[in-house]
Amino acid sequence: MRLILHGAPGSGKGTQARLLSQRLGLAHIGTGDILREAVRLKTPAGRLAKPYITSGQLVPDDLVNEMIADRFRREDRPERFVMDGYPRTLAQAASFDQVLRQEFLLLDAVVQLLVDVEEIVGRLSGRWSCPFPNCMATYHTIHKPPRVAGVCDEDGTPLVQREDDMEETVRRRIVVYNQNTQALVEHYRAQGLLRQVSGTGDIETIYTNMIQVLGQAGTSC
Ligand code: AMP
Repeated sequence: MRLILHGAPGSGKGTQARLLSQRLGLAHIGTGDILREAVRLKTPAGRLAKPYITSGQLVPDDLVNEMIADRFRREDRPERFVMDGYPRTLAQAASFDQVLRQEFLLLDAVVQLLVDVEEIVGRLSGRWSCPFPNCMATYHTIHKPPRVAGVCDEDGTPLVQREDDMEETVRRRIVVYNQNTQALVEHYRAQGLLRQVSGTGDIETIYTNMIQVLGQAGTSC
């Protein structure tokens, strides 16, 4: 299966993308994770991206488009994948369409997770994650606390809070998301690929709803 998971910051797309990846054997391609890792390693792309990420703005399209095009043009390109956080603008969608066409890969669906703004602010301000690059598990102080406070269940790494999860930055990220979403959603609706799923409720219920919607091939929103 080849999927794009679209949703506001804090809609749970990272968590759902990880589940889809583990359970369906899909490559998980999360541009937020890739960019944060580039920032951590202080690569040229990371240095360029850092001020945008910390202020809640989108990194320039060219940078992410190149990053993704490189990933798909490599020998070991992913055949079955879930995109998490890309494309995020119409220009990125156009670039990704072209990459997929060149690689003869067809998308199966674009799933948009729908979540209320105030819920997102509450979710993100309580979000903590494991900084270990092979893990990146996420937790929430109220909804999904780790077994031991402040420590990752998977590998015992101390959890960290993302700089861009502060309330003011979260609100800016939501404004940016809304500015770009309408055109993006219409782009994929026109291709008959769009599926909309409520992102409210527990993780397993959202996953089940998503799988159900993905099973309904040919029924677009
Ligand atoms: P995320 O973890 O997906 O919420 O992404 C965190 C931050 O990384 C975003 O606020 C952007 O600054 C940057 N970012 C991630 N994906 C993209 C993208 N597709 N286009 C531009 N910026 C992105």
